[in-house]
Amino acid sequence: MKLISIVVPCYNEQEAIPYFYDAITAVAQKMQDRANFEFIFVNDGSKDGTLQAARTLAEKDERVHYISFSRNFGKEAAMYAGMKKAAGDYIVIMDVDLQDPPELLVQMLDGIEQEGFDCVATRRVTRKGEPKLRSFFARMFYRIINRISKTEIVDGARDYRLMTRQMTDAILEMTEYNRFSKGIFGWVGFETKWLEYENVERVAGETKWSFWKLFLYSLEGIFAFSTAPLAISSVLGLLFCVIAFIMVLIYALKAIIWGDPVAGFPTLICSIFLIGGIQLFCIGILGQYLSKTYLECKNRPIYIVKEEK
Ligand code: UDP
Ligand code: MG
Repeated sequence: MKLISIVVPCYNEQEAIPYFYDAITAVAQKMQDRANFEFIFVNDGSKDGTLQAARTLAEKDERVHYISFSRNFGKEAAMYAGMKKAAGDYIVIMDVDLQDPPELLVQMLDGIEQEGFDCVATRRVTRKGEPKLRSFFARMFYRIINRISKTEIVDGARDYRLMTRQMTDAILEMTEYNRFSKGIFGWVGFETKWLEYENVERVAGETKWSFWKLFLYSLEGIFAFSTAPLAISSVLGLLFCVIAFIMVLIYALKAIIWGDPVAGFPTLICSIFLIGGIQLFCIGILGQYLSKTYLECKNRPIYIVKEEK
């Protein structure tokens, strides 16, 4: 019988863990003639009783394992650590807040075992219960990144997915420090089946993602999976060279034909500001890539474990 490893990143989730454990063990019970289970809770430097909750579960249920980080390293690092620890033939990543319906596991397993997919992933088709502005920006982000990146990044895709050992190993080989898993999942390839479901609201606690954090995360995605922004400066540079050349011609002709009265001070100031702004913007883009390269060069570990079982 196959072993399914369920990786659960947790950050300040003491309220949600008991609900999650009940729901997941019920599903495991239902599927007991098809697979064995292990549950890997990754405590991502929580400041509440999350670690204690994981310890307690690990004591009473030997299928439960946990990793606890020395500080908050982010969900990406937590997923990586969990996948690394997982011993299963199939690996699932699941949020602890029950926004990823555990019942879908049955269908996911069918997708891999009967239909021969390497991965069964989920995507939300609605964004019910989410602020309008956030949904709008999320849609924009997916539209932009899919235009400028060769890697396919699916709108509404969750991290909730069941993967074969082979695919998980491929992901683990991507040891980059700036992790954007929606891109990583797409980048490694393999046959993926998509299950769609309506957005479910959190069972307890609250979301860890502010608008600002999401915005920074989306930039992370763009810089990690596209170099198109780097081309912006070349294109703009070329454009401005052409414009400047034409302007030189025009002003030279004007001076020759009509003489050269001193005028056009506002135009001068405006163009200096415009071009200065564009230059700074482009240097900023360069800086972004440079800083990412800098962090990758340092080769720092993705996470640091303080305690595990
Ligand atoms: N999470 C984490 N580290 C973080 C932030 C979040 O491990 O720094 C976990 C969190 O405990 C949850 C999952 O990632 O299990 C998704 O987080 P959340 O529900 O806040 O995100 P949302 O579902 O609102 O996108
Ligand atoms: Mg959630």
